Amino acid sequence: MKIRHLSKTYKTKYEVVHALEDVHLYLPQKGMVFIVGVSGSGKTTLMNMLSGVDIPTTGEVILGDKSLYQGAKRELFGYRNSYVGLIFQDYNLIEDLNVYDNIKLPLDFTNQKNYEVVDEVIKKVDIEAIKYSKVNEISSGQMQRVAIARALVKDSQMILADEPTGNLDSKNEKIVMDLLKDISKDRLVVVITHDEDAAIEYSDRIIEIEDGKILNDSHPMIEQVEPTPSFVEPIITLKEQFKLTFGFIRNNTARSLSVALVLLLVPFIGAIMSGYVFFDVAESYHDFQVEYGSDYLSMSEPNGDYLLYYKEEDYLDKMIYYKDSNLINRYDVSIDINPNDYAQTYFYQPEITNILIYNNTFTIQGKVPTTNTEIVVSDYVLASIKYYQGIDAITQLRIDGVMYQVVGVVKTGYEKFLNANFLNDYTRMAFEENLAVYNAVFTTEAGYQYMRNQMTSFEEIASFTIYTGGPIPITKYEEVHVSKERPIDIIRGNTILGSGYGLVSRAFLEEALEIPLYEFQGGSRVIMYCYSRAKYRISVRISGVFESDDYEVMLTDADFNTAVRKQSYSRLLIHRDDVNYDEILQTEHITNQSFVYANEMWDTAKGAKIVLIEFLIVLIIIVIAFSTLTNQMTLATEKKKIGIKYSFGIKKIPIIIPYIIELLLYIVGGFIISTLLVKVAFPLFMRTFIYTTDFDLKAFDFFYIAWSSIIGWDVLIYVLMIASLLGMILTVIRKSPIEIIKDL
Ligand code: ADP
Ligand code: MG
Repeated sequence: MKIRHLSKTYKTKYEVVHALEDVHLYLPQKGMVFIVGVSGSGKTTLMNMLSGVDIPTTGEVILGDKSLYQGAKRELFGYRNSYVGLIFQDYNLIEDLNVYDNIKLPLDFTNQKNYEVVDEVIKKVDIEAIKYSKVNEISSGQMQRVAIARALVKDSQMILADEPTGNLDSKNEKIVMDLLKDISKDRLVVVITHDEDAAIEYSDRIIEIEDGKILNDSHPMIEQVEPTPSFVEPIITLKEQFKLTFGFIRNNTARSLSVALVLLLVPFIGAIMSGYVFFDVAESYHDFQVEYGSDYLSMSEPNGDYLLYYKEEDYLDKMIYYKDSNLINRYDVSIDINPNDYAQTYFYQPEITNILIYNNTFTIQGKVPTTNTEIVVSDYVLASIKYYQGIDAITQLRIDGVMYQVVGVVKTGYEKFLNANFLNDYTRMAFEENLAVYNAVFTTEAGYQYMRNQMTSFEEIASFTIYTGGPIPITKYEEVHVSKERPIDIIRGNTILGSGYGLVSRAFLEEALEIPLYEFQGGSRVIMYCYSRAKYRISVRISGVFESDDYEVMLTDADFNTAVRKQSYSRLLIHRDDVNYDEILQTEHITNQSFVYANEMWDTAKGAKIVLIEFLIVLIIIVIAFSTLTNQMTLATEKKKIGIKYSFGIKKIPIIIPYIIELLLYIVGGFIISTLLVKVAFPLFMRTFIYTTDFDLKAFDFFYIAWSSIIGWDVLIYVLMIASLLGMILTVIRKSPIEIIKDL
């Protein structure tokens, strides 16, 4: 080993110390060399340069033709790992490992599997009794022997021992010195000591240092040509890394628990909050439609508990407002197709329920309807007719006594529900929602007007509400028009029934209008909203009251038709791929049952959004602060350990891995637990305390959002924690091992 002009200068804030000055030496490949000198003379500094744990200011150390400090630095790692057995003056054991594992560690790093050596060495230095003790539980004499054992075990070419017997009694001192002497028969042993007697007794050569310079050398040698040694870079197994991780967790229980807890709570809280923040009704509902096969959405005018139809001008407005939309007009009718009274299945409906205005969004087989009496029917209607009547093909369909030519068939894609599981609420609702299109006949705009004018029977019940109040429950409603056949007993007022004049029942007057019969003055004006077919205001004067316990209103045919029949009314359907889908979902009233559930959740979410976003930001800040803080804590306790491992020749990445493993354990554990919380505990909480229905809890992807945001949070926290930890560790590792160990 050639030591050439080695100098080390320490610059501190207050002074510059020349700890080594131009040390020039040649050390042979074997023998026992003692370095002696007073305290502060530079012995340890020299030792650190020889072992590669500190970097000289100038000069170099050369083995064969390998230079430790010049050129590629990599040699240093292999050198530290395989060539040097270093016994630190202050032992530097790894607290996370027990005595045995500390001693065994260098073997693992050099990939040696002959673990019997460990026991041999333990026996030699006489520490069998404390073999499995924690290293911070043993005496300093024992620590010193563990440190010696650790250096001896890896059978390295050179042993460097800094005051190896400083804390030993004379018996053990002799054991150690004999051991080192024995080793020095075929390798180099460099020992620093105060003990001049020992130096004289055991040495092959004594080098005396003073003020960083060689004062005396008992057997000076000139440089000789020597073979170039090969170095083995350290190998560290994952098992070893896990052992270090668990040791670390065990030694820092309180810290580890609090980190684990935060890593669990933050994603969980963050998940619930971002579940609310990012819940978007349009997106969620669209996904729902895709998942359950629902294609259409029905829009209506909301009013209290009623769903209203659009008047002609309403939906024309909508068409203009939602440019490029393919809104479909949908009219409710009931066209019986089950004359033979077969039992109704769930799947096929016994009646046609809708008339749609044909537009080119539908795929048609056959001809497009062009005249008033031409219609097309859906493939589903055909299948229903076949189911109930056994008829394979129809060319004509009688609707309310009028015959229409069936010129084509619309492909609706209903077949996808043939084998659907209707026990699933959402699937059932999706099918029902699609029936608006499946269960329909299609005609032209003009054709519809014609068809409607031909029809006499509307089965839907109309209901009324008083102008100033809310809707009144009308338990029975009859289509009211002057009925020549029906005898009416006028009990107050008169029978005048004409344009703008109507008759009401006694129950309606007294209970709904709250006008006592005897106070009734002919001509009281009552304004009613008709909630069937179209929102229509009927303003009539009540001319008379007739005897009836039911709520009944009588209007003239003309008034009734104006109110109910003569309006062009419809609901609007949109397809889930409509260009304005998102906007329509967020601004219009969608009547689909499943949408209503989604929408209720959305309303709750919207209300809290701003506050929640603020919380989320705060949470991120907390996480950043927390990760910086804990990593600082980690580093404080880990610094020395890192330095020790570094001094063994372990590289940066393997040094960091135990901490990455630790965080990974928390993150994975936290992920599993917080997923369970979101999946089980949160719904339980909602059900028990918020009285949310199961249906709401299943609602759409709220929980998927929560889940994915758990993942998001975990990744975020992990990245933050790791990044700040890596940053800190890498800054530390820029220093030399000894600087890290001593925390300089
Ligand atoms: P010895 O081991 O012979 O007692 P050292 O090699 O430890 O001596 O120290 C030599 C000199 O260098 C001493 O004056 C010591 O104070 C100084 N010294 C050692 N390490 C540092 C350091 N990291 N920073 C500043 N001065 C140091
Ligand atoms: Mg010293």
